[in-house]
Amino acid sequence: MLADLKVCTTECKSIKFSMTNQNENTQTPVQYLKGVGPKLAKVLAKINIQTIEDLLYYLPREYEDRTKIKAINALAPGENYLIKGRIMDIQSRTTQSRFSILKVLITDASGSIETVFFNQPFLANLLRRGMFLYLNGKVEYSSFEKGLQFMVKSFEIDNGEALKFIPVYPLTQGLYPKKMRSLVAAALRDHLGSIEEIIPAKIIKSYRLLPVQDAIKRSHFPDDLSQVSPAQRTLVFEEFFVFLIGVYLRKKQVQKSVGFKFNVEKDKIEAFKQTLPFSLTNSQNKVLLEIIHDLSQPHPMNRLLQGDVGCGKTVVAAIAALIAHQNNFATAIMAPTEILAQQHFQKIKELLGGMGLNILLLTGSTSKQNTDLGNVDILIGTHALIQGSVLIERLGLVIIDEQHRFGVEQRALLSAKGKNPHILVMTATPIPRSLALTVYGELDHSIINEMPKGRISAQTHFVPEEKRESAYNFIRQKIKENQQVFIVCPLVEESEKIDLKAAKETQAHLQVQVFPEYKVALLHGKMKAQEKERIMQDFKDNKIQILVSTTVIEVGIDIPNATILMLEHAERFGLSQMHQLRGRIGRGDKPSYFFMIGNPKSNDARQRVKAMLDSNDGFKIAEIDLKLRGPGDLFGLRQSGLPNFRVADIIRDENTLNEAREAAMNLILEDVSCARNIWNSKKQKIKSPVAGKTLN
Ligand code: ADP
Ligand code: MG
Repeated sequence: MLADLKVCTTECKSIKFSMTNQNENTQTPVQYLKGVGPKLAKVLAKINIQTIEDLLYYLPREYEDRTKIKAINALAPGENYLIKGRIMDIQSRTTQSRFSILKVLITDASGSIETVFFNQPFLANLLRRGMFLYLNGKVEYSSFEKGLQFMVKSFEIDNGEALKFIPVYPLTQGLYPKKMRSLVAAALRDHLGSIEEIIPAKIIKSYRLLPVQDAIKRSHFPDDLSQVSPAQRTLVFEEFFVFLIGVYLRKKQVQKSVGFKFNVEKDKIEAFKQTLPFSLTNSQNKVLLEIIHDLSQPHPMNRLLQGDVGCGKTVVAAIAALIAHQNNFATAIMAPTEILAQQHFQKIKELLGGMGLNILLLTGSTSKQNTDLGNVDILIGTHALIQGSVLIERLGLVIIDEQHRFGVEQRALLSAKGKNPHILVMTATPIPRSLALTVYGELDHSIINEMPKGRISAQTHFVPEEKRESAYNFIRQKIKENQQVFIVCPLVEESEKIDLKAAKETQAHLQVQVFPEYKVALLHGKMKAQEKERIMQDFKDNKIQILVSTTVIEVGIDIPNATILMLEHAERFGLSQMHQLRGRIGRGDKPSYFFMIGNPKSNDARQRVKAMLDSNDGFKIAEIDLKLRGPGDLFGLRQSGLPNFRVADIIRDENTLNEAREAAMNLILEDVSCARNIWNSKKQKIKSPVAGKTLN
């Protein structure tokens, strides 16, 4: 063991020493590569290639297998092929509708075929008789020509490259395949030698990785396709490994820093629980214990509380705030919308108001910026909390609700209002575990995986337009039984005005034509805060039976008496959005109903609707969402501080991610200085606005 560590340490030193060398070479702007001028450098920048290293790490999307050239006499209609042959004849013409067509006769040892190039008139000047071409395309039977034709999809002039497998890169306008290949080849020839091995030898061995230079080379120009996946796995591993080392070093730093050690009087907490109208679920209790444990440490808590919509996170947060108060510390609670902040304000007052706490609300429109916050116990608000010069005295606990709506930066800003306060972030975002451990790697995790007793999950129906009337009748019936209804209309930015109009018209129509006997109100984000507040209050008091709303009510809103949510234009909503919206109902003990109205024409829209019909489980829905959309859009991942990985993909490479995580964690346990060296020398590899910031 000791010997191992020694080896590792020396290795790390060598990284440090050669860093200057490495910087000089691979961090060199790509412009200094032979064949790259300022113009091409700009084009490369469009696909995030700034340095020579970026270029070396820019991997092919696939490989064209030039061992699979088809003989021309063996071509069959309807299939795609790669052929290679010599140009025998070229004819160009323009059709009546001004399409240009180039017909090129190609011959190989077995026969000839007419190849057809559409709309590339400039090729007439480029192609010459006698040239050898590689051609990719589809063979079709032409009844006009009474023979087979080869419809060209892509082609290349053979320049004797003699590669069996041609890397195919994702490109951009102004960058051509052959140019890209020659750039990569030049970078490999002149600069591969200065790519440093980052991963300690011991880890390379135990995870069966390749030396990094081999991995890069084989990723671009494999001798055999079987080399590709181990090579790329190595590069993916490296990228995750460096990133996670950064994450865990930050986590360690926070764990070491001095925080407020709260004294938790268990019997007082028990007494408080007795005042609640319900008893906590086992899950809530377990999470509460985890939080209490953290709060009792002399270091700040840094915890993520995950739990599906409606599982009861707020009351847990309130108890944490109560503990802070009992220790004479203030709590700040941040929510993403004014309506939600307002709701928390009321809820927390209801829960804790009786205990003599000074609870304040601060949103953009309450403009209490000047209010004396000196003796506030719980300050609840929106982004307004982190804007301006608001300082919160004795800030001991920061709670961020619906954390996926905020970025890492905002979390940091809020906690900077105090000095190392405890941090609890909450989200209903059901993301798969390995993803959570990466995206929120710096946080400890708690999960509420149980709904309060007596909950009945919402019945979900797709309502075709012609059944709209019956849906209204059903709604009328439920209102007679004293229940309430949300009707949600889409509002997306680009068509904001039209959408807002549609929402207003829906409200007017329902009020006048359909439900004149009930109160139908409208709620949208553009309203003044006071008006929103009044409407929410009236809805809560059942003075409004039907609330037509835009997605402002999407997160957090808790009106247990509302049992129906009807979604207009369901095809326009994303899955996570629909899941959140469905979470607005089914919050009490009565059956609840989620109606999707709309016209899901696209395949994706239909799959989303189907997913909602099939499952009530946030995790399942998240998985489907991932499959449909990819990770890019997933639940605000983009703001989460996750870098744009260069070669890795957190979904596709999940297994490698798990391996890299294990390796990074172990290295930090065994040899933190080695980990630190790696991070310091390689953090520029991680392209994140956040990754490099906190740890220097
Ligand atoms: P979320 O986790 O989505 O933020 P909330 O905290 O808003 O959920 O809780 C949803 C509803 O469930 C609220 O009306 C809350 O009062 C209620 N609730 C919370 N915990 C329990 C429980 N253990 N038993 C019954 N109802 C509960
Ligand atoms: Mg909530």
